[in-house]
Amino acid sequence: MTDDFRAAVLHNTHEPLVIEPVQLAPLGPRDVKVRIRATGLCHTDLEVIEGSLRLPLPIVLGHEAAGIVEAIGPDAQGVAVGDHVILSWNPKCGDCFYCDHDLPILCDTYQKNTPAAFAFDRQPKARLRHGGDLHQLMYLGTFGDYCVVQDQQAIPIPRDMPFDAAALIGCGVMTGVGAALNVAQVRPGSSAMVIGCGAVGLAAIQGVALGGAQDIIAVDLNDQRLKAAQQMGATRLVNPRTDAADAVARALTGGRGVDVVLESAGNEAAFRLSMEAVRPGGQVIWLGKTDVDQDVAFRWGSLMQEKRIRRSSYGGARPRRDFPFLCRAYLDGRLNLDGLITQRITLDQINDGFDALRRGDAIRSVILFD
Ligand SMILES: [Zn+2]
Ligand SMILES: [Zn+2]
Repeated sequence: MTDDFRAAVLHNTHEPLVIEPVQLAPLGPRDVKVRIRATGLCHTDLEVIEGSLRLPLPIVLGHEAAGIVEAIGPDAQGVAVGDHVILSWNPKCGDCFYCDHDLPILCDTYQKNTPAAFAFDRQPKARLRHGGDLHQLMYLGTFGDYCVVQDQQAIPIPRDMPFDAAALIGCGVMTGVGAALNVAQVRPGSSAMVIGCGAVGLAAIQGVALGGAQDIIAVDLNDQRLKAAQQMGATRLVNPRTDAADAVARALTGGRGVDVVLESAGNEAAFRLSMEAVRPGGQVIWLGKTDVDQDVAFRWGSLMQEKRIRRSSYGGARPRRDFPFLCRAYLDGRLNLDGLITQRITLDQINDGFDALRRGDAIRSVILFD
């Protein structure tokens, strides 16, 4: 073991994270040691804290981050010391059935190694000061001063990209914008609905706008979030407490329904609405999730008429292609990332940040490191 650094460790579910000194393991051949500069708090982290996503403990959470490369292993490629990078949580083997079928998110090795919650080579990269390996969420674990990843997970970005905005690209923004541009492949002039206006939904709204969508309906139960949706490009705001969103979709489209629905709310009502609001032959992309053992019911007729449904975890991400594109869109003023950041906090305030996420009054809290 080499260096000591500070990390937020989850020892038991339903308990606060503990900020404590931990030790880094020596770098493996393809490892990259990244000094974390900014990292976002995402719902998937909260799922581990609350036990609905069951992973081995103790674990360092955090999977949406940007930083600076401080050291690399002898065989690491594509990245150099000093590079500014965004971290990807989808390493892939490049050789398996799913990698060959252009679905790296289903890569055999990625899927097989995920439950162990170590690095992609299955090795622990950090341990508690008094012994005991530390697990890493999603091949990352960015709630600490450092994170060790495989070379393919550290994507170099322009130096003028601010770290807080860059961090969001690593998960929520990639997922939302990617769902619109990579998965749905939204076309100019089309109509779209986005259900759920958290970070992913607000990114999805911007994604359909970047794709040239003309009518963009934003749906959320929270009027503050709808206001944010309008700033991100939504042309019609619907709070289901007062309006029927599927009726709005039909009224805007000559009775057909919208071309594309992007769902990012993760509840049964949202999944049902997505099928009712899309037109015959249209596309539904589900980004949210409920407990994997929960049943979800649909009116059968809403599933008919050549509708296409796809569930996507990472917006069809190809990090080496997409992260630099998203940085460029931000730097050119076409992608609003600052509007997604509701608070900037320190690592010591991480548990308060998760409380805000639980209450639903944060879009994204971002931890900044000195
Ligand atoms: Zn996430
Ligand atoms: Zn593979």
